[in-house]
Amino acid sequence: MKDKNAWNSYSETERKALEKLSKDYIDFISKGKTERECTDLLVAMAKENGYRDLADIIASGETLKAGDKVYAVQMNKCIAMFHLGEDLVERGMNILGAHIDSPRLDLKQNPLYESDELAYFNTAYYGGIKKYQWVTMPLALHGVIVKKDGSKVTVNIGEKPEDPVFFVSDLLIHLAGEQMERKASKVVEGEKLDILIGSEPLDEDTEKAVKANVLAILKDKYDIDEDDFWSAEIEAVPAGRAREAGFDRSLILGYGHDDRCCAYTSALALFDIETPSRTACGLFVDKEEIGSVGATSMQSHFFEDTVREILNLMGLYTELNLTRTLRNSRMLSSDVSATYDPLYAESFDKDNAAFFGRGIVFNKYTGGRGKSSSNDANAEYLGMLRRIFHKHDVAFQSAELGKVDLGGGGTIAYILSLYGMDVVDSGIAVLNMHAPWEAISKSDLYEAYKGYCAFLIEA
Ligand code: MN
Ligand code: MN
Repeated sequence: MKDKNAWNSYSETERKALEKLSKDYIDFISKGKTERECTDLLVAMAKENGYRDLADIIASGETLKAGDKVYAVQMNKCIAMFHLGEDLVERGMNILGAHIDSPRLDLKQNPLYESDELAYFNTAYYGGIKKYQWVTMPLALHGVIVKKDGSKVTVNIGEKPEDPVFFVSDLLIHLAGEQMERKASKVVEGEKLDILIGSEPLDEDTEKAVKANVLAILKDKYDIDEDDFWSAEIEAVPAGRAREAGFDRSLILGYGHDDRCCAYTSALALFDIETPSRTACGLFVDKEEIGSVGATSMQSHFFEDTVREILNLMGLYTELNLTRTLRNSRMLSSDVSATYDPLYAESFDKDNAAFFGRGIVFNKYTGGRGKSSSNDANAEYLGMLRRIFHKHDVAFQSAELGKVDLGGGGTIAYILSLYGMDVVDSGIAVLNMHAPWEAISKSDLYEAYKGYCAFLIEA
């Protein structure tokens, strides 16, 4: 059974839709490089599409009914959207769940230091990275600083052409004999991922004059004092926009495809469908890359509590109704999968690998080594989804993350499956996942969008 390459199937109209989607998506991930920025972008999109803030509805004393569209935000880092359908309790929801955090370098809380007349930001890396990939590339700083008076300064430096960028240095090859002998996890060690941020002294007499000069600039340009980093969240991410890749422009090279490509297409699907018969829900959560821990992650009570509020506003709230609503739901865990890489063929089982251009990927299971920690989806559910995707001419493929003994990965799928709902991982194949610049196929982006729409309408 070999899946077809979707590129061969497109009409002129579909080509146009695919290119438009890709262009808008490139814009989205070029602006949304942190979970906070993605939340802001998704809120703006939701509002444009008639969604209202659940907090406002609660405050105003209004009620909710089928056809209404609402969203809820948790701590500016994650968001849930609902397009209410009929019989929420009896029929449950069709849920698309993606994550909007991506691997990066976070500034530590006391980040600024000078060493031998160079100024640095000390960092702690976030998520699973090959540390050696993050050196010698332009980095931008994104995030927030909360000042002593409670005001919040938004940081975004390194994206505009006239902005400075920042970088982590690496040892020159001429002197790297010993370094090159080390194993890859030790070639660049975590504490060496410090970002070079200045080299000019303030003046001749000041102690640590380069650091002092950086501090003077931070004060002057951004009104930031050194101790403000104590209450800041600043993320160093690859600087610059995502771009088309290849002579045929069939691919997109960008930072944070995992998992913003699934988040973006899931959100669009939610916005583009008519009022569904079953309630449509989109979850865009944080902290997946570090194990879905904390108040803005899928493991937090945020989602369940939001459903509680909605049931209450519909006059349906009881604990039993909540249980039934969740149990009667279905979910696609919209998360990325690994693209087969011919240069690393030895790491994949080719018959069970995902290929560019062959559409949205089902990962029945993820996990590693004996399906450990995996949500292993039910055959009955896969059968239902297969019928839906066929009916809507969605290109899809089935894959596992790589050879069974080699490793594996996790998503948010297992968390929602605990409610007793059917869940399967279903998303876009990514080449060089978790690298600063990852690649996806435009065609897979388009098929994922089609697949998510079909799921929301038909499942
Ligand atoms: Mn992911
Ligand atoms: Mn990931």
